[in-house]
Amino acid sequence: MKLFFTPGPSQLYKTVPAHIQTSLRENLLSISHRSAEFRNIFKSATQGLRQLLNIPESHEIILTSSATQAMEIIIRNCVNRYSTHFVGGAFANRFFEIATKLGKNSEKIRFENEQIFDPETNLSPESELICFTQNETSTGVSLNPQSIAQFRKKYPQKLVAVDIVSSCPQVELDWNATDISFFSVQKGFGLPAGLGVIILSPQAFEKSQDATSTGFQNFPDLVKAAHLYQTIETPNILAIFLLDQLIKDFAKIGIAKIRAQGEAKAKLIYTFFDNHPKFTPAIKNPDFRSITTIAIETGSSSEDLIKRLAKKGFILGAGYGEKRNTQLRIANFPAHSIEDVKGLLQAFEKI
Ligand SMILES: *Cc1c(COP(=O)(O)O)cnc(C)c1O
Repeated sequence: MKLFFTPGPSQLYKTVPAHIQTSLRENLLSISHRSAEFRNIFKSATQGLRQLLNIPESHEIILTSSATQAMEIIIRNCVNRYSTHFVGGAFANRFFEIATKLGKNSEKIRFENEQIFDPETNLSPESELICFTQNETSTGVSLNPQSIAQFRKKYPQKLVAVDIVSSCPQVELDWNATDISFFSVQKGFGLPAGLGVIILSPQAFEKSQDATSTGFQNFPDLVKAAHLYQTIETPNILAIFLLDQLIKDFAKIGIAKIRAQGEAKAKLIYTFFDNHPKFTPAIKNPDFRSITTIAIETGSSSEDLIKRLAKKGFILGAGYGEKRNTQLRIANFPAHSIEDVKGLLQAFEKI
């Protein structure tokens, strides 16, 4: 048996195999995406998500195929000329690059791991959208949603977009301070990849009405389809069905309990590595330590460690990019039980 602690795709949530079987047994993968049966699944998934994450009725929920696609849709719909990107790692940089490739005149505000992310930073007056990667999967740095919310207060005329791809559903966002947020399901939801979700405030929706280069996937059409519990294109019906089932499973446990378990497991992991003779958490400042994607400094032995842990059945993520061999990344998602985490840490003790 293998346990995947990789930061995404990651360990499937334990109920997923049974839900896939149900989808086959009930022939859901052959139904029309315009049928009442599909629309019920769409409705249940989006309403369930609204309840689980406490998303206000005023906000729209749109389904896409990935978080990267969500980034492009967001830029096209909410930026006519200028966006601002807080960049502390590769995923925030991807969001920035998508904006520049779409011809936007975007500013990049860099911050390094241990440098305090400054909520007082002054932004260009021209900027229409401020983009944050709340949990930077490549570095293991997480931004406090409250510091993100300060920007919404300081710049009420600008929109705020928050990437919560690898922190949803662990993170609790202030929906009044978030115009656009998005995630894909292969991280915290423990599902196969191939589905993204965008959550949109009335202000963001309004802004998209006069966007100049939205193309096919424009918010007005996407929202119109979503109100009919449909998508514009033929969607990944299996993924939407599985998301619906997973949300029901999470709701039975309760989101507060899931989040408390996430914090407790993160504490075990950080305490273990804070006291480890050789390996240390890459992020020293506890205020910036991610709960869900934890980066560990190994020196120069990641490749070898990953091989040895794999022999014991634990699949870990390498460091990202140039940190490939000097760091490890450990995912801590709802699919990872406290026993799984204890097993992993025991394996580290014997290595
Ligand atoms: C994985 C990830 C993405 C990209 O998600 P896709 O579903 O692969 O497009 C974007 N942002 C963050 C923070 C991620 O971890």
